[in-house]
Amino acid sequence: MSDERPVLSLVVPVYNEEDNLQPLAVAVRKAIEPMDVSYELILTDDGSKDGSWEIMKALAARDSRIRVQKFACNRGETAASEAGMRAARGRYIVTIDADLQNDPNDLPKFLDALQTHDVVCGTRVAVRGQGDNFIKVTSSRIANWVRNKLSEENISDAGCTYRAFKRECVDKVKLYRGMHRFLPTLFKMEGYTVTEIPVTNNPRLAGESKYGVWNRLFKSFHDLLAVRWMKKRVLDYKIAERVN
Ligand code: UDP
Ligand code: MG
Repeated sequence: MSDERPVLSLVVPVYNEEDNLQPLAVAVRKAIEPMDVSYELILTDDGSKDGSWEIMKALAARDSRIRVQKFACNRGETAASEAGMRAARGRYIVTIDADLQNDPNDLPKFLDALQTHDVVCGTRVAVRGQGDNFIKVTSSRIANWVRNKLSEENISDAGCTYRAFKRECVDKVKLYRGMHRFLPTLFKMEGYTVTEIPVTNNPRLAGESKYGVWNRLFKSFHDLLAVRWMKKRVLDYKIAERVN
């Protein structure tokens, strides 16, 4: 690995995505090369049971921009994302799913928006018959509505983890399991500016979603109450005067 820091760190949590990894690496390279910015692709294997890790090692062996690490066992999407963010060396971090539901061709829009904001969140644009099925779209919308209501938030699509932010934002937040859904709120609590951009939402290229209605809607409810509490208890002060 070279000592030079890249501009962009793409951070990908990976759980049983063996058929998606090679196409992801190709799609990322094709999308970024015309942009003329340096990048690294950081893949964290969240204890996959399929051949993901072998493929990740082969990809890393062929391209030094691809960096891979592996958990001993499955610890969840937030943990895998956080491990990638901590390993990231770029000026900007982009979190992107492994299954190509997020389109790397949207990356220039993220970079543009980062010129005026600290954090940029993708909002999935629903195209009829494309992307996700009715149950997933509906449960995701309900979860988003409840989340916004209870945490007095106005994120259009908190379930979309296609996001970009300045590197330093990560150092300020402490993540817990399930918190990947609340990252924009956690960033706002630290005073960072957040904007949203529309992004394409493709169907999953291969494999299956790791979430059902249960863990999308109900499991995150506890997390929501914790975030609501944290928001109400944010320390908010300015030193007016100081001597010595
Ligand atoms: N993922 C992970 N660990 C898990 C569950 C998911 O690393 O325990 C990864 C998964 O491989 C994918 C991303 O998180 O890259 C989002 O998962 P998925 O596509 O299943 O979620 P959906 O798009 O259906 O909401
Ligand atoms: Mg997906």
